[in-house]
Amino acid sequence: MGNWLIRNATIVTMDDGRRVLTDTDLLIEGNEIKSLHPSGTGPSELPEDRVIDGSGLVAIPGFVNSHTHCAMTLLRGYADDMPLMPWLQERIWPVEMKLSEEDVYWGTLLGIAEMIRAGVTCFNDMYHYFEAAARAAIDAGMRAVVSGVLLAFLPDADERLDRAIEFARDWKERGDGLVVTMLGPHAPYTVPDHFLQRVVEGAKSAEVGIHIHVSETAGEVADSQRDFGQTPVERLDRLGVLDATPVAAAHCVHLSDGDIETLAAKRVGICHCPGSNMKLASGAAPIPKLLAADAVVGIGTDGPASNNNLDMMEEVRLSALLHKLQSGDPTAVPAWRALEMGTRGSARALGIGDRVGQIKPGMKADIALIDFRRPHLFPRHDVISHLVYAARAGDVHTVFINGRPVMLNRELQTLDEPRIFREVTDRLERLT
Ligand SMILES: [Zn+2]
Repeated sequence: MGNWLIRNATIVTMDDGRRVLTDTDLLIEGNEIKSLHPSGTGPSELPEDRVIDGSGLVAIPGFVNSHTHCAMTLLRGYADDMPLMPWLQERIWPVEMKLSEEDVYWGTLLGIAEMIRAGVTCFNDMYHYFEAAARAAIDAGMRAVVSGVLLAFLPDADERLDRAIEFARDWKERGDGLVVTMLGPHAPYTVPDHFLQRVVEGAKSAEVGIHIHVSETAGEVADSQRDFGQTPVERLDRLGVLDATPVAAAHCVHLSDGDIETLAAKRVGICHCPGSNMKLASGAAPIPKLLAADAVVGIGTDGPASNNNLDMMEEVRLSALLHKLQSGDPTAVPAWRALEMGTRGSARALGIGDRVGQIKPGMKADIALIDFRRPHLFPRHDVISHLVYAARAGDVHTVFINGRPVMLNRELQTLDEPRIFREVTDRLERLT
C-alpha cells in the first residue's frame, strides 16, 4: 500500500479537543495515519507521486453512513411519495423477490461509487445477498459493515438466518479488516419473539453486533403497545437484543423518555436518517434529547429508494436544520455536533470508533479531502460551518480508505463507472 503525504492542508481532526489544524502535513503509512506535522517539518523523502498538495484542501475523517441498503440504488426513483407500508408491500418487496446475487453486487458497486464521490468511507448495510455486498466493498476498497436482512415471514427464514450467522462468523475482518459483519433482523414488527431470540443467540455465538430498524413510525409503536404491551425498545430490551455489542438501531423516531434512557444506558448506536424520515413523513427523531442523555448518535442515509441519494453531507446538513425547525431553537444540533455525528458518532454507533472517525495517529487512514477553492466556500470564517451548511458532495477532491487512495483529484481509482452504469441498466430490464 505504501506511504502517502498530504502536504499543507487544513485538518479537521474530530478528536476530543475538536481541534482544527491549519498548515499541517499528514503522513499515511500502510493503512494507518502515522503522524501530523506543522507544514514542512514532516518527512520529505517521499517520491513526488506520493505527495498530495493540500493547499486549499480540508481533510476530514471520511463520513460513515451508519444505515443503508446500498443495492437499493437499483430502485432509486422507482416509487416515491407513498406511505411506508404500501411503498414496501406494493412496490419494493415484489421487485426485491426477483433480485439475484449479481444484481445486488452491481447495485452495491453503484452505491459505493456514489458514496466515494461524496466523501463516504464506510457504510453499514442491511440487505439481501449479503456476500455480494461484502464482495463489492472489498473489490472497491470500501470499508463496510454488512448484515443480511432477516424477515421472518419469508418461507426460508430459518435457513436464511443460519446462512447469515455463518456469513457473520466467516466474513468478519475480511479484506484487510475492511469488512465487519452483523446480523440484521429487519425490524421488531417483521420478526417475532422466538426468531429474535435465535438472532440474539446467533450474534453471541458469532461474536457480532445487531443492526435493526427501531420505532420508525408512530403506527409501529402503537401496534407494539397493542400486541405486546411494550414499546419496540422495551420489547427488544426484554428479548436481550439491546445487550448485543454493538447494536445499530436505525431511525428511533418515536421514543418515550424511558426508551431514550434505555438506549443511552445500553450504549445502543442510534442511526439517525433525517432525509428518509422526512420523505416518508415518519417524523423527527428526538435527537436533541438523545444527545442530552449522552446517547451514541450517528447519521445514515437509509436506502437510496427512500432518500434518494447516499450523500452524507446532505444528511449532516439536514440533521443540523431539522431539529432547529422542530424545536424552534436555532442552537439545537450546532454545526460541529452534526459533523461529529456523521463521522465519529456513526463510527461509534457501529462499534468501530476505535479505528475510524478521527484523524489522529494510530487510526485507520479513512480520509476525505474537500476542495475549498470554490466560490460557495469563500471567505473561510469557519471551516466546520462551511462543511455543514455550504459544502456539497461535488467538492470532494480525494478520498483515502484504509490508506489506499480510492479517488484522486475526482477520479475514481478502484471502480469502472461506465461498466457499472451498463451492468445496472441491463439488469433493470429484467427486474422492473
Ligand atoms: Zn432502512
